[in-house]
Amino acid sequence: MIVSEIFRSLQGEGLNQGRPCTFIRLAGCNLQCAWCDTPYAREGGEEMSVTEVLDQVWLLNGKHICITGGEPLLQREEVLELLKKFSIHGYNVEIETNGTRDFREMQTYASICMDVKCPSSGERSDIRLLPFISRRDCVKFVVADEDDLFYARAVMAGREIRGEVFISPVEGCDYHAIADYIVEENLPVRFQVQLHKILGVK
Ligand code: SF4
Repeated sequence: MIVSEIFRSLQGEGLNQGRPCTFIRLAGCNLQCAWCDTPYAREGGEEMSVTEVLDQVWLLNGKHICITGGEPLLQREEVLELLKKFSIHGYNVEIETNGTRDFREMQTYASICMDVKCPSSGERSDIRLLPFISRRDCVKFVVADEDDLFYARAVMAGREIRGEVFISPVEGCDYHAIADYIVEENLPVRFQVQLHKILGVK
């Protein structure tokens, strides 16, 4: 598999925000979001076998794993192989995906965090995947402005989403305006500032 980096940090977002976590960031992405915060992971990376990844994760000594990218599901077969190994060894795994690839076969082994791309990103997720989000998964809308909030509200209004839904502001935008909108509209979401941005860590 093509790996951008493997490192320890705090999980900055999603259901496990604040937990110590080992991140496996896979290289390569099929999108070009306007505000991408990991552009270095869209290309390059180092070829590693699944065994080499497992060895490196084991050395980092943590049982909570986040497989992210880039877009990790572009390396479907390798990710599945890795997930099966993690499952055997009792790891707790989450996958962060941009919502353009079917994740159903991963859900046996990991919880999914589906990032639904909003208009300001200049990209689109496949919202037909939302019905497959289960109670142990979550959905994230990263919003920069009012148009993004309107989009998030429209997506939620049209369908039941079984997992937790987060709205996260893009770093540096008007956090208060977004929080006010969520309260005024009584959106069924949790407002979540990305912790790793506040701490200045990966
Ligand atoms: S999906 Fe993620 S890695 Fe890919 S361009 Fe968007 S923010 Fe960057």
